[in-house]
Amino acid sequence: MKVYINGTFYPKDEAKVSVFDHGYLYGDGIYETLRAYSGQVFKPGEHMARLMHSARLVEMSLPMDGDGFLDAIDRTVRENGLSEAYIRVSVSRGPGEIGLDPALCPVPTVVIIAKEFNKYPESMYEDGIKVSVVKTRRNHPECLDPAIKSTNFLNNIFAKMEAKRAGAYEGIMLNHAGHVAEGTISNVFIVENGSLVTPPLIAGILDGVTRNLVIKLAEGMGMTVFEEPFTEARMWAADEAFITNTTMEVMPVTDVDGHVVGGGKAGDAARRLRAAYREEVARCLKTR
Ligand code: PLP
Repeated sequence: MKVYINGTFYPKDEAKVSVFDHGYLYGDGIYETLRAYSGQVFKPGEHMARLMHSARLVEMSLPMDGDGFLDAIDRTVRENGLSEAYIRVSVSRGPGEIGLDPALCPVPTVVIIAKEFNKYPESMYEDGIKVSVVKTRRNHPECLDPAIKSTNFLNNIFAKMEAKRAGAYEGIMLNHAGHVAEGTISNVFIVENGSLVTPPLIAGILDGVTRNLVIKLAEGMGMTVFEEPFTEARMWAADEAFITNTTMEVMPVTDVDGHVVGGGKAGDAARRLRAAYREEVARCLKTR
């Protein structure tokens, strides 16, 4: 494996950043996770727009524009000879003297890791996954805005540890108001009477690239989509539930803390949306 660090490729074992990097010292950094299908990055513009948005929110000036990042990402995918790839782009504040002030770090560190995409077992898409609504609340937007795709991940890690203890695959976090916010690495949807319901951005969640695409696809299929707050009890009683992200795409949820959802099998809406998602991938590949 070759890892991109600030314009140079290093073998995995030699891919190192400074212990004085404020990403390491303080969790001061932002990132994106992308997927390549047949060697082509999916929704590149959307991921770059979010990276720029995160950079603005943490007041970091990036060393490249979106096209520069996409070129570096393409090079990393090709350098590793990948077709189906998982890609992680991290931009940390960079090395600097000890102290919180970002001004101590004149040059951010850009790391791009691309590796073979490990497919989720098809059985997960058939049977759905178990999730657990955890005690750890999602960061309050006025403390650390979840709209920032930040490498400062302890909030999500605590939720993941709780979910694991509960024997669940994903932890669902509530927000400060007690409404469902999002998963540790995913956005949440429920289906009620043929309509899709998902927490609004003001619930304090990440503006998921997959979430936005799924909303568009659902509307294209004639479904009504409500972006409105809901409680965990509505998840238990929903006709279907699923979570979304760049790597899972549309993953059915069939168990919420022991409450069986959708009869314990992937529902029709989740199946159709995943199929539509795959069609969109194929369409994007063709138009390049
Ligand atoms: N919410 C959180 C907290 C995430 O970390 C992620 C992705 O990693 C998502 C939602 C889904 O975002 P996307 O669909 O852009 O991958």
